[in-house]
Amino acid sequence: MKRRLLNLLTVLSLLLCVAVVGLWAVAGSRSFTFGLRLGGYAYFGRSFSDRLAFGVAREDLPALLYYYAHGRANWPGGAGGFLYYRHPFARAVTGPYWFVAVCFAALPALRGWRRFRPVPRPAGLCPACGYDLRATPDKCPECGHVPAGAKFS
Ligand SMILES: [Zn+2]
Repeated sequence: MKRRLLNLLTVLSLLLCVAVVGLWAVAGSRSFTFGLRLGGYAYFGRSFSDRLAFGVAREDLPALLYYYAHGRANWPGGAGGFLYYRHPFARAVTGPYWFVAVCFAALPALRGWRRFRPVPRPAGLCPACGYDLRATPDKCPECGHVPAGAKFS
């Protein structure tokens, strides 16, 4: 159950990463807002030319949300595209596209690496073929592999 949830999160994260890269690709020509209303709040995102913004605003203030989400408000630059924007009725964070993409790519990359990394063989076995080398530590009698650091006597 926990594993399935993690798998779902990984797939979702990968899809979001692709979506961010897609938004990044079209950011110069058009920008748009996407949103979700849940439990009295409106969660929105907005694609700017250089960065993405994610925010939450009180749902009973549609005019203000519109004001924020559609960029009539003055979004200050922030350092390198990073910004925390706070208002009594709404808050938002912005980050450059590359940063958001890296964030969403982290989980899939970590899980992919864990799955496909080579498993080191236990000590005492030939690293090439897995033959038991305890009797012949200097050279593998099975495949002829000479382990690194083997002492020739
Ligand atoms: Zn071997």
